[in-house]
Amino acid sequence: MNRREFLSLSALGGAASLALVAEPGPAAATAVPTSASIVIVGAGAAGTALANRLARRLDGAKITIIDPRREHLYQPGLTLVATGLKPASYVVSDTARWLPDGVTWLPERVAAVDAEAKTVSTQGGQTLSYDWLVLAPGLVLDNEAIEGFSLDLVGQNGIGALYAGPEYAARTWSAASAFTREGGVGIFTRPATEMKCAGAPLKHTFLVDDIARRAGNAGKVEMIYAAPQEALFSVPIVSEKVRMLLEDRRIGTQMQRTLTAIDPGARRATFATGNGTEEIDYDYIHVIQPQRAPDFVRQSGLSWADKWVDQGWVEVDRQTLRHLRYPDVFALGDVAGVPKGKTAASVKWQVPVVEDHLVAAIAGGEGTATYDGYTSCPMITRIGRAMLVEFDYNNDLVPSFPGVIAPLEELWISWLMKEVALKATYNAMLRGRA
Ligand SMILES: Cc1cc2nc3c(=O)[nH]c(=O)nc-3n(C[C@H](O)[C@H](O)[C@H](O)COP(=O)(O)OP(=O)(O)OC[C@H]3O[C@@H](n4cnc5c(N)ncnc54)[C@H](O)[C@@H]3O)c2cc1C
Repeated sequence: MNRREFLSLSALGGAASLALVAEPGPAAATAVPTSASIVIVGAGAAGTALANRLARRLDGAKITIIDPRREHLYQPGLTLVATGLKPASYVVSDTARWLPDGVTWLPERVAAVDAEAKTVSTQGGQTLSYDWLVLAPGLVLDNEAIEGFSLDLVGQNGIGALYAGPEYAARTWSAASAFTREGGVGIFTRPATEMKCAGAPLKHTFLVDDIARRAGNAGKVEMIYAAPQEALFSVPIVSEKVRMLLEDRRIGTQMQRTLTAIDPGARRATFATGNGTEEIDYDYIHVIQPQRAPDFVRQSGLSWADKWVDQGWVEVDRQTLRHLRYPDVFALGDVAGVPKGKTAASVKWQVPVVEDHLVAAIAGGEGTATYDGYTSCPMITRIGRAMLVEFDYNNDLVPSFPGVIAPLEELWISWLMKEVALKATYNAMLRGRA
């Protein structure tokens, strides 16, 4: 470690521990007395963080969180599992472990929301009335949108799909590691829809390339990054940096290519190109499925009608995350229909905004907090190096450690942010402390 990196780490350690222990906010505030009934759908990153904060801010509220999943998934770790750097267990914990006293967990799947009647129904047949509803069910992966693809194929015939969860991320590593040893053509895809952690397709590309190089097999692999978008990244200056990195490492790019089908036996991928279709033979393909709001959201009438119509994100104000037609409804996290976000880092900044508006409304006032679109991507470029890219709705870079962590440099400290600090901060966020 050089001196600069050491100083950086000290600064980071200070900042991280501040985030972990020194935020008195919700705990110190006087709890607002209320008998309001609040239903939170989804006990993932967003729902759990909000439940913890509301439990401290409200006295007497009936808070119910609904989620059938007994295992909480730390999804930012999936990229590391899919390249053999962490075991699948690294991303799994018990849902119950993160939920506070005073909040009722209903382990069922929500089937419908009736925003006029102010009710939520579960697949198990229960109907709950609410005064306030927070939608935080994340998103679903549309496996069927890619002809020939199904989850049982992952790990075989050179197919990876790390977004599908820890088991599939581990299977992705089986297929990817065979590719780094044996070589051939590797295709790394991205969907045309909005997606969570839009940097992850590039992270997987860079890491697989790095692992092949470290094994002395750079000459054996042909790497192709194939994406539907015109640009490599939504922020132009980051896009240019990524272009230079890919070029340096001789990773080819095929832009405006949307994966539509795979033939697993022939190892052939079909892409829509805008002018027709194109087929590319592969030895390894990383599939990232198109991503959409869960069906119950899309059927609830709460989605945008004129934007993202094929995806169904919830129609909320982009600064307050409050529904534009139903003011007693908020959306948080991946399901929120805002132009940026879909990262845990965004969730960290969104949750206090919803907390502020919800508690203020319950107390008979108006909240003032706003979400500026902050999102962050620790873009891993090789093992031990990453770029900590942080930006907002305006695509302005908003570094958390200006002068310490340069966003467009491949740094060891940024790698540590992803590999070590991010999980600790994420866990503190779940507890409503960061
Ligand atoms: C591969 C990958 C890498 C990532 N890397 C990063 C990163 O480096 N940095 C970063 O900040 N973010 C990263 N993310 C994104 C981050 O994990 C998500 O943005 C974050 O988890 C979103 O939180 P959420 O609460 O909206 O959704 P989730 O955390 O997905 O939680 C949604 C919850 O809702 C539940 N649910 C779904 N449907 C229903 C229903 N019908 N009824 C009841 N409950 C339901 C689910 O069971 C789940 O528990 C990554 C994600 C992936 C997949």
